[in-house]
Order: sequence, then structure tokens, then C-alpha cells
Amino acid sequence: MCPHTPQCPDPKDLDREAARTIISRPEQGWSLLCNGIVVFEDTGELLPDGLTIEPHRPTDLFRRPQRPADEPAEAGTVRQSPAA
Ligand SMILES: [Zn+2]
Repeated sequence: MCPHTPQCPDPKDLDREAARTIISRPEQGWSLLCNGIVVFEDTGELLPDGLTIEPHRPTDLFRRPQRPADEPAEAGTVRQSPAA
């Protein structure tokens, strides 16, 4: 399946995630590696034989928070459309 030389790691290898990404869909949170593994943004994996690997690395180190924790939610600022 892998067209690269040297060959990328086999899906059964421990370093399987080192295979090259051939399809990336960050908006959907997954990437397909050339060895057939689907890697999800939470570090979970779907192997070509259907086995799944639970998320196994922290992801919050690189994830930007939706809103800074010290920024209060702005209440009462809902814009109202002008009366017709
Ligand atoms: Zn490859």
C-alpha cells in the first residue's frame, strides 16, 4: 500500500504513526496515513484490520482554548435587530 522508498512502518509496527499522511481532513479531525491507518485528532487510531486504538497522548497542550478562562462571558451584549 505504501508507495514510498524506504517503506513506511507497517500498521503492526510500534512506530506506525510515522507513516506519511496521504489524506488530511483537519476540519473533520482525521488523517489517513499511507499504511492505511486513520489517525484522529484525539490521537485515537483506526487500523486497516478494523481494530481501534484508544487516544493515548494528551492533546490539550497544543489546543487553543475556545475562550480564555479569565475572559468573562459577555452577558447582555446580544445585538438586537432594529424594530421594523
Ligand atoms: Zn509510505
